[in-house]
Amino acid sequence: MNDLTDFMLCGNLSVSDNGHLNFAGQDTAALASEYGTPLYLMDEERIRERCRTYTSAVRTAFSDKGRVLYASKAASFKRIYEIMREEGMGIDVVSCGEIRTAEKANFPLSNAYFHSNNKTDADIEYAIERGIGYFVVDNEEELFAIDRIAKEKGIKQAVLLRITPGIDPHTYEEVATGKVDSKFGSAIETGQAFLITKTALSLENLELVGFHCHVGSQVFDSSVYIATVDVMVKFVYDVFLKFGFITKKLDLGGGYGVRYIKEDPVIDIKESILEVGEHVKKCISQYGIEMPEICFEPGRSIVADAGLTLYTAGTVKNIPTYKTYVSVDGGMADNPRYILYGSQYTLLNALKLNEAHDMPCSVVGRCCESGDIIAENVKMPESTCRGDIIACLTTGAYHYSMASNYNRIPRPPVVMLNGGESYLAVRRETFDDVTSLDI
Ligand SMILES: *Cc1c(COP(=O)(O)O)cnc(C)c1O
Repeated sequence: MNDLTDFMLCGNLSVSDNGHLNFAGQDTAALASEYGTPLYLMDEERIRERCRTYTSAVRTAFSDKGRVLYASKAASFKRIYEIMREEGMGIDVVSCGEIRTAEKANFPLSNAYFHSNNKTDADIEYAIERGIGYFVVDNEEELFAIDRIAKEKGIKQAVLLRITPGIDPHTYEEVATGKVDSKFGSAIETGQAFLITKTALSLENLELVGFHCHVGSQVFDSSVYIATVDVMVKFVYDVFLKFGFITKKLDLGGGYGVRYIKEDPVIDIKESILEVGEHVKKCISQYGIEMPEICFEPGRSIVADAGLTLYTAGTVKNIPTYKTYVSVDGGMADNPRYILYGSQYTLLNALKLNEAHDMPCSVVGRCCESGDIIAENVKMPESTCRGDIIACLTTGAYHYSMASNYNRIPRPPVVMLNGGESYLAVRRETFDDVTSLDI
């Protein structure tokens, strides 16, 4: 038998009497046969619960001066934007494709923040035409472009400036300037952050509303945000002294971590935000400045453990004295995170949870790359064979949104689960979809 607590990374996972994996209270084997594999499942209630955790934490910490923006690159499709609209969340977008998708969901774009380190003129025009609320401006060149296009369109565009606080999310004590060397933002250390602020204040077609920073991802430690607050609130103060500018919005970025494997810590988001909130208030009152609206922009931690991928096992290949490979009907086309980051995952045989998962193996995809691996050195039941359903946990973030058609493999559907019901949010691609752009 397994110690299932090792695998149950999130409360939406459970095991039925027949040893099947249940997700959001539904039998994954039944879902696999209804919708086919590979299959992305998403637990709608979990997504909503995470939104509410954030919005209520921010309300407690900052009353009406807090805001949560869903960083939609983590999982971007129409239904997600509808959920975000219903939950009263703002959104971050990083491309016109995301803007268009949000618009199709009737998401109010006045509540959308346009990021990206290189917005083209066409991007800027499109976003302004669609009525984007805010640009988060990366650099001075972009600032001039937005000012020029805003003038052409006859509007005054609200902007935030992306500031690089010089904090490395993991080693910030030792390497306090490690992240100045980044393609994102304007650094305080080099003086560019003040320069871009000065320029923003001088441009007639822009309204500077505040500052943004984002120090990294998979952060488990509140002290990273505390250090960020120290730097950013001081910057807000310095900008007030230098230019008399009163910051209306201070965006502290996203990055809260999630559990991919049992060794990953659990972070209490509410507690962390309250801690960060106390620190913000302390710093603000020390400097005697006005409290800006404080934004958080979580992506991964909203959707990651609301998602799970199901595959069907194919060839099980033992290489004597080396290892066993369990191949599945997906791979790097639906999960590029292993090949990109060497990410680790928890895998389960969704039909055989009442058998010990004690056979060491690597679960690999079907793409023509030896790096096409879902997880190395995991354990599956000895009896794992062709036709078994393999579940890969915590795939709600940066999976569907990063999926490709490599090897001309059609992308899997996204099926939402809610209250015992399931429904398609994104349908499975067909071969006709895959070939539809070929002239
Ligand atoms: C990706 C990103 C986020 C979200 O990060 P997560 O780790 O998914 O929470 C937030 N803000 C910006 C600017 C980002 O680029």
